[in-house]
Amino acid sequence: QDPLLEIKNLETVFFTDDGVIKGCDGVSLKVNPGETLAVVGESGSGKSVTAMSILNLIPDPPGKITNGEILFQGQNLVGLGKEEMRKIRGNHIAMIFQEPMTSLNPAMTVGAQIAESVMLHHNPDKKAALEKAQEMLHLVGIPAPARRLKEYPHQMSGGMRQRVMIAIALACSPSLLIADEPTSALDVTIQSQILKLMKKLQEKMDMAVLLITHDMGVVAETADKVAVMYCGSIVEYGPGHDIFFNAKHPYLMGLKESVLSIDDTVDELPVIKGNIPDPLHLPPGCRFEPRCPRAMEICKRKRPQPVYFNSEHHACCWLHGGDHDTSV
Ligand code: SF4
Ligand code: MG
Repeated sequence: QDPLLEIKNLETVFFTDDGVIKGCDGVSLKVNPGETLAVVGESGSGKSVTAMSILNLIPDPPGKITNGEILFQGQNLVGLGKEEMRKIRGNHIAMIFQEPMTSLNPAMTVGAQIAESVMLHHNPDKKAALEKAQEMLHLVGIPAPARRLKEYPHQMSGGMRQRVMIAIALACSPSLLIADEPTSALDVTIQSQILKLMKKLQEKMDMAVLLITHDMGVVAETADKVAVMYCGSIVEYGPGHDIFFNAKHPYLMGLKESVLSIDDTVDELPVIKGNIPDPLHLPPGCRFEPRCPRAMEICKRKRPQPVYFNSEHHACCWLHGGDHDTSV
């Protein structure tokens, strides 16, 4: 089976007065049709930069994709023109963000906003678009959709607004939905409802999801595969059960341990001692070394390369060997 999305060695940098920051530093990943890949990591780990790179939304300047390929249905999106990219964004890849209030227009009814998205993609007349909008509201589980169509965003709760955003995103029947922290502004009960809704729609529409989150609970609930990011790179990648039952990277072990040791209401990434390093002054060896409870001598000097545990599960950590020359 060909992957729907395949990112190969993506490098996205930001030019600042103080130097170059690598937001993505050699990111490679695959998303198969219909599956959910969760990208997890602390704030500043490069999750959103990866998502923005896929959609060609990196502000240039100061940002730029300097290396790598983003293959969507076999087509490289890197360097694609604005117009072509807009078509792909509208028809094949959709995105939802954390705070629906910022992406909804406060001066338009939600019905008009969904209809606008429907018209953009399918070009029907206004009446048909409004009918479709009503159908979409029903699909995302909003009760009394005919009445709700006429409401403005501020008349709805946060959870309802996020459902509206999902309706807008799905109006184009995308084959890939990129969801960047879609539920982190919502309380736990609503969050779980929205995740269940996304899962249901995903199956119904046979859509793949790239889900960005800092919440291991969300990962456990939704992911088929997981990519763990740290300082712009994927440090561990694998099917969900390997990630949860056979974690190999001390960073991931730390994330999981703290989740399990507190209780299941935690919605923040648990605190691992220390902070992520200054992106302008990254450690020369393993970037997790300053915080790693299991760091060894070599970790200070050389960056670990991926070590494979099965065809899909890999981690970058010297604990698992790798071809390092111990005499160096
Ligand atoms: Fe820790 Fe070394 Fe592994 Fe990095 S390579 S995570 S410092 S043990
Ligand atoms: Mg982010």
